[in-house]
Amino acid sequence: MSSTLEKLSSEELIKMEEKHGAHNYHPLPVVLSKGDGVYVWDVEGKKYYDFLSAYSAVNQGHCHPHIVGALKKQADTLTLTSRAFYNDALGPFEKFVTEFFNFDKVLAMNSGAEAVETAIKICRKHAYEKRGIPEDQAKIIVCENNFHGRTTTIVSFSNDETARKNFGPYTPGFIRIPYDDVDALDKALQEENVAGFLVEPIQGEAGVFTPASNYMAEARRLCDKHGVTFIADEVQTGIARTGSLLAVCGNCSCEGHCERQEDTYVRPDIVVLGKAISGGVYPVSAVLADDEIMNVIQPGQHGSTFGGNPLAAKVAVAALEVISDEKLAQNARKMGELFRREMNRIIEKTDLVTKVRGKGLLNAILINDTPDSTTAWDLCMAMKENGLIAKPTHGNIIRFAPPLVMNEEQLMDCVAIIEKTLLAFKK
Ligand SMILES: *Cc1c(COP(=O)(O)O)cnc(C)c1O
Repeated sequence: MSSTLEKLSSEELIKMEEKHGAHNYHPLPVVLSKGDGVYVWDVEGKKYYDFLSAYSAVNQGHCHPHIVGALKKQADTLTLTSRAFYNDALGPFEKFVTEFFNFDKVLAMNSGAEAVETAIKICRKHAYEKRGIPEDQAKIIVCENNFHGRTTTIVSFSNDETARKNFGPYTPGFIRIPYDDVDALDKALQEENVAGFLVEPIQGEAGVFTPASNYMAEARRLCDKHGVTFIADEVQTGIARTGSLLAVCGNCSCEGHCERQEDTYVRPDIVVLGKAISGGVYPVSAVLADDEIMNVIQPGQHGSTFGGNPLAAKVAVAALEVISDEKLAQNARKMGELFRREMNRIIEKTDLVTKVRGKGLLNAILINDTPDSTTAWDLCMAMKENGLIAKPTHGNIIRFAPPLVMNEEQLMDCVAIIEKTLLAFKK
């Protein structure tokens, strides 16, 4: 039985998912069975550059030995105690991660969406207990085209019809304003009972939409002015992806232990992390805040059976050690500049791409076609044939987010694949 299962082809495995799995994704038809660093292999043995990195969860590269080593060691020792008892891994993780990001406290969860939910709950409770907002009246400002996950509350404040339609009734208490619009934020903050502003420093899912360079600093200033909790969702942008430890750090170049040196440094009241906090090895997410905010959560008021389990704790520490040991923020910054320079060179040669945008190694190219055209998809299929896998986001945009361990030679190899594909492409 197992020997026949091992020999299934890509086509058979795709059919199996089609028949037995819920159709909640539309994957590129490539079936992966192995990963190492910046590379993945399909079941037929074809090798690809991974240009999605599991939506920026695999920033440290596939199967990083330091992270996998921590997982294996802990797996033989103790996996789960629940928080009904203490374990010897959670405290050291909490100390490490709060020192790493410079906050008083952390609350560990599992998925990104759970961490966003956690931040919303903390923000509301803090508003009622410390800021005198009347019970059940708190409002949180969010942005158009946001992506914060898939729970019922989170899709309630999404404006993506696919994500939202027929999942109502929706959770009230959110005000949606245009992204990258300081005036709109200023106006919304003047409404009564505003508790928080929840924002992505760069909108990843929306197509790597990069706001004006002073947007985060202005938002911070306005939130301070109105005494409103500033919540940065760094689930995709955080952990070195955009060339700094957090995207809100602006051009701060510190690696690991944040030194908060530069004037562009913006410090949110609450930071939400997920994805790369485990290097893609295990689901780990986290919410960071200082005591004044985090202490509103008392026993019984929030939790998760798996949140902060010993495996998660060891994996996350190892994953963050890789970020600083290998200077991945610095590398993302350097490789990102090179990548955008090369893309701009290619754009000169083709009408197919109108623009490259992004920061660090979170980038996207805009395809010169309508959002409902299949051009971006067809291009991704052609790149796959040429050994590089990426995925369209929002129709005519292709996101390029390789693991941050990519070196210059590999990056130039990828640029050559992208160039060759674009120049040979016929609609
Ligand atoms: C992926 C993502 C989430 C949700 O994380 P999950 O682990 O998929 O629940 C939340 N916010 C942002 C910005 C994301 O990119």
